[in-house]
Amino acid sequence: MTLLEVKDLKMYYEILGKGYVHAVDNIGFNLDKGETIGIVGESGCGKSSLAITLLRILPHNAKILGGEVLLNNTNILKMDMERFRKNIRWRRISMVFQGAMNALNPVIKVGDQIAEAIMIHKNVGKKYALKRARRLLKMVGIEPSRANNYPFEFSGGMRQRAMIAMALALNPDILIADEPTTALDVIVQAQILKLLKSLQRRLNLSIILISHDISMVAELSDKIAVMYAGQIVEYGDIKNVFLSPRHPYTMGLLSSVPNIKGKKRRLESIKGVPPNLLAPPKGCRFHPRCPLKIDICSEREPEIVSVNSNHLVKCHRYMESRRLMGLE
Ligand code: ADP
Ligand code: MG
Repeated sequence: MTLLEVKDLKMYYEILGKGYVHAVDNIGFNLDKGETIGIVGESGCGKSSLAITLLRILPHNAKILGGEVLLNNTNILKMDMERFRKNIRWRRISMVFQGAMNALNPVIKVGDQIAEAIMIHKNVGKKYALKRARRLLKMVGIEPSRANNYPFEFSGGMRQRAMIAMALALNPDILIADEPTTALDVIVQAQILKLLKSLQRRLNLSIILISHDISMVAELSDKIAVMYAGQIVEYGDIKNVFLSPRHPYTMGLLSSVPNIKGKKRRLESIKGVPPNLLAPPKGCRFHPRCPLKIDICSEREPEIVSVNSNHLVKCHRYMESRRLMGLE
């Protein structure tokens, strides 16, 4: 059953005197109950902007210019803010912000911080909130007695677990996790992923997992949306996108993933950096970096087309891209 449906979502940042940063440009995807979607792309492609648009936590210069975000068929973008705050944010859709594990208050005990977050949203006393905080800590694999510790007494991995606990405090249906493992070392990254996977199963949680690392996302996701320069360039279930990519950008992201034998894949990694979104390139936004570029790529924007019922791609050359990149 479709829980969340994002349609043609458009959010630009206004820069006075310069124009608009095209951060979220006609993004669309679906999420079912209990499903995980991975959103991947290099830094600066609009992933965090998409996340804060869904939660409507936006800076003043952000303008939602179009589209719909349907939660159980209700457009939550149009809902008045008071209702959205009361019924949707944290309660139905919640988020672990990028870098948030370093934003815990250093002089307040972890348990108290979680309890305070609960009390802001629920009409409960301190005693109940603290009890709930301990239960939440246990749920994310932290000994409940550690509620009495200060953040500096926690390792990085534990602080991230505490942030996940806080995000789950009101039993949301959807958890957005923005780069949840980026600042952590490899072993701890794997543990956090394992935690997310088990929470998803136990709570039937839907997860929007955001990362620049496609192999990380692939481990947990049922489907993947690859974002480039504010747009989705490839979308589909994990089997299609991860194992049989059609977009040269996705292939480039995958080139940094070692194959089973530990060897680098044959693919070359992508040179250059994502474009300035104040003035995205004409035609296909990826064309200045694309090894398969032909004339049409710089002239006309490709449509997003179906390769099959579970696989969409936005590339003029998607029919021959795999062969041309030496993948078949
Ligand atoms: P990602 O999370 O994929 O790294 P972001 O969503 O953070 O990407 O950023 C997308 C683009 O939006 C970037 O070009 C970034 O500089 C720009 N951006 C982010 N926040 C603002 C803001 N408040 N005002 C103007 N531009 C912004
Ligand atoms: Mg980000």
